[in-house]
Amino acid sequence: MDRPVRTKVKDLLHSEPGQKVLAKGWVRTKRGNKQVKFIALNDGSTVNNIQIVVNTELFDENLLSQITTGASIAVCGHLVASVGSGQAVEIQAEEIELYGTCDPVRYPIQKKDTSLEYLRTVAHMRLRTNTFGAVLRIRHAMAFAIHKFFNDKGFVYLNTPLITESDAEGAGDMFQVTTMDLANIPMHGGKVDFSKDFFGKKTSLTVSGQLEGELGATAVGEIYTFGPTFRAENSNTPRHLAEFWMIEPEMAFYDIQDDMDLAEEFVKYLVQYALDNCMDDLSFLNDKYDNGLIERLRSVLGIEFRRVTYTEGIEILEEAVRGGHQFEYPVHWGTDLQSEHERYLVETHFQRPVILTDFPKDIKAFYMKLNDDGKTVRGMDVLFPKIGEIIGGSEREASLEKLEGRIDELGMSRKNLEWYIDTRRYGTVPHSGFGLGFERLLLFVTGMSNIRDVIPFPRTPKNAEF
Ligand code: ATP
Ligand code: MN
Repeated sequence: MDRPVRTKVKDLLHSEPGQKVLAKGWVRTKRGNKQVKFIALNDGSTVNNIQIVVNTELFDENLLSQITTGASIAVCGHLVASVGSGQAVEIQAEEIELYGTCDPVRYPIQKKDTSLEYLRTVAHMRLRTNTFGAVLRIRHAMAFAIHKFFNDKGFVYLNTPLITESDAEGAGDMFQVTTMDLANIPMHGGKVDFSKDFFGKKTSLTVSGQLEGELGATAVGEIYTFGPTFRAENSNTPRHLAEFWMIEPEMAFYDIQDDMDLAEEFVKYLVQYALDNCMDDLSFLNDKYDNGLIERLRSVLGIEFRRVTYTEGIEILEEAVRGGHQFEYPVHWGTDLQSEHERYLVETHFQRPVILTDFPKDIKAFYMKLNDDGKTVRGMDVLFPKIGEIIGGSEREASLEKLEGRIDELGMSRKNLEWYIDTRRYGTVPHSGFGLGFERLLLFVTGMSNIRDVIPFPRTPKNAEF
């Protein structure tokens, strides 16, 4: 068989008609009449299909009858200008090879039910839909852009451990890692004897790579981590996963202003990258799920994020309550803001992304730099429309005495943190960092409203399939 090399559908759609081409992919739909069939073929390289025109006289009837939605085929033929609307070119089939049939009755991905809720029940197959194809390609583009952004700035990609003995910040409940036989746990003096465990101590999956990130930043200056993070928080919300990916840059010689500048530049860069490189997928998602998506993406680019203190934020929210606005959760100085409060500030009050700073020390982690008032710490949260918190960060406490003071005050163990405290003991420097939840970013960029739909294999309470 004299076949040209395979061209991806994405490239075929922009190719000059006239040439002989080979396409391979999965059948999305087949329609037509006795004389001619039209097959919409997709290979995952783009949300768009290439149309295959089949003159039924040239092919075995039995072969054509097996070409149903989901079947995989190779098609060889000439690329011709399309007469129908909707596509510039199509393939006039000369040769068709069937790789795999697909039972049209049993195939879980049917046109008649593509609701996201249904697709979650067939999550092993949902990646084949246009929706998840778009999400996966955007997810990839964002991962690439993240590495590019930091690489271009000279940051070092630091791999921090997934198995750890430290609870970074009490950020969330941890998944314990053990090789002990749970039906026969070794005991010593009435307590679990962790010396018999694999690492000889109690270990867990990481909730954040930050503390190790600080070791890197105080060595090579600017680092970022990008890896999986695990939190056993039993919160079944559309914004929380038990296993999610986090990007955590950490920078020596950055104060909180530098930190905020970097965070703002970073998310704007990523949104711009998506607009520049993922327009087909964004348009698809915009049309199908969220017709304000592209508009919303553009809206965060042209403006400066509004920077206000937590205390100012609380005043605005209290004023809103006095004006009759109803929140589900109460709001007053000292409480952690709920997503509804964050969204009020962003969507209703300022109508732009907001960076909230200087939180009460009691609601933030021990390592944040204490302000002169002794009450607040130099944290910063970036709040986005539709999402609420997308980034959490801070300037870190650089003073050995103050850091030890906070550790004691919170009743934490200094002994377990000696390795971390050493960064303040030996050549301490002002430094800052933040954490961007990768899936929170993807919620914003794709316009999806449930975090389970922006990760291929979500892990949530009572759900760890595959
Ligand atoms: P939230 O209050 O929304 O639970 P957090 O304060 O626990 O967030 P941090 O500990 O500051 O979050 O983590 C940094 C970032 O990681 C957050 O800004 C968010 O983007 C993301 N993140 C945190 N928890 C989760 C989760 N369970 N699933 C997905 N992303 C998360
Ligand atoms: Mn949380």
